Amino acid sequence: MRAEIIAVGTELLLGQIVNTNAQYLSRGLAELGIDVYYQTVVGDNKDRLIQAIGIARGRADLLVFTGGLGPTLDDLTRDALAEYLGRDIGLHEPTMAKIMDMFSSRGGAFIESNRRQALLIEGAVPLRNDTGLAVGNALNVDGTCYLLLPGPPREMKPMFDNDGSSWLKEQLGPAFTLHSVMLKFAGIGESKLEDVLLDLIQAQQDPTIAPYAKEGEVAVRVSTKAADAGEAASKLEATLTEIRGRTREHLYAEEDVPLEATVVRLLTQQQRTLALAESCTGGLVSQLVTTIPGSAVVYKGGVVSYSNEVKIGQLGVPQALLEGAEAPGAISAETAMAMAEGMRAAADADFALSVTGNAGPAAAEDKPVGLVYVGLAERGRDTRVEKLQLAGDREGIRLRAAKRALYMLWQ
Ligand code: ATP
Ligand code: MG
Repeated sequence: MRAEIIAVGTELLLGQIVNTNAQYLSRGLAELGIDVYYQTVVGDNKDRLIQAIGIARGRADLLVFTGGLGPTLDDLTRDALAEYLGRDIGLHEPTMAKIMDMFSSRGGAFIESNRRQALLIEGAVPLRNDTGLAVGNALNVDGTCYLLLPGPPREMKPMFDNDGSSWLKEQLGPAFTLHSVMLKFAGIGESKLEDVLLDLIQAQQDPTIAPYAKEGEVAVRVSTKAADAGEAASKLEATLTEIRGRTREHLYAEEDVPLEATVVRLLTQQQRTLALAESCTGGLVSQLVTTIPGSAVVYKGGVVSYSNEVKIGQLGVPQALLEGAEAPGAISAETAMAMAEGMRAAADADFALSVTGNAGPAAAEDKPVGLVYVGLAERGRDTRVEKLQLAGDREGIRLRAAKRALYMLWQ
């Protein structure tokens, strides 16, 4: 099914409001497996609205309207579509009763124009409005579907998510429900991951393969349309197996969970504990870990050692590493190692992670922006340190550094 979203409202064209409804609907339609080919914005003008319907009708088989279902004379969406289809408009009695109730409970006199919010195009299915008055309209006319939703997001969203989505699923039939698996990766950048999967992404048809990057993590969504979960699983299997084989050391989950959740779960299973020594991340790793319910079982605590004094005093980093012309400095593999080992000993934890680096915006200790060392000390094992050169602004570098530190635990 090819969809076009038509947002109606002169306010949108004047730049007075942002078309957030189009974004919400595009995402919702994608989740139903419906391809959105166009987004249109048209003012409160019946002729131009009819023109827009004609254009959309020629290139899409689902037209989703938002806006223009209200009581006033500039609310024209229903009228325009009825005129385009050559259909009458009738009254939806339950909505009318609801409107009358609303007026009598507020003690005001009924305002005739409000009747317009109870109008249904002939043959349309009413869509319930739990947060407002205007009833939504859904019609299938010879295989072309029309969905009329209100403009206010607080009315549009629940109507689309409830009755709107159910109606669309009925039109699509069971064989067209979208099933997808979210693969989550750590320790690899978006472009590197795309490179590893490039031939699969370029040749994709069914299943589709969509890479995403957000909040310091990368993900790939593999999707197919199928009648049920069993059929979907068999259609997805070959692609998933291929991706797993190519990305094994970075693929930490096959559902949409953050890396810290996987790390907390692993430590819980192993009954092992964690401590954190953070410099350039300023407690961000600690923040991520403690966001996960149940982290108290595995996380002992940490030190934000932003200064040399605290690195020396609280973590026992040798002064000679930090001070003096020949010293490697705070941003060095040696310091990352000493921070992790000092923290692990101080907290008597099974693991300690350390992060030290330059998140920018300017060079520090003559070291470039984005240079970060992450360390992992483990009871009874040699300490490991990784040197990273991370891209991004200050926030991006800090977040990537935090995730790369956690990745050392997952590896
Ligand atoms: P009402 O009953 O409030 O008149 P309506 O269905 O007629 O609702 P509009 O008159 O087009 O809708 O818009 C009402 C309000 O809804 C706008 O002032 C704006 O705040 C919000 N709105 C409308 N369209 C959008 C959109 N595309 N994106 C975000 N908000 C919107
Ligand atoms: Mg209106």
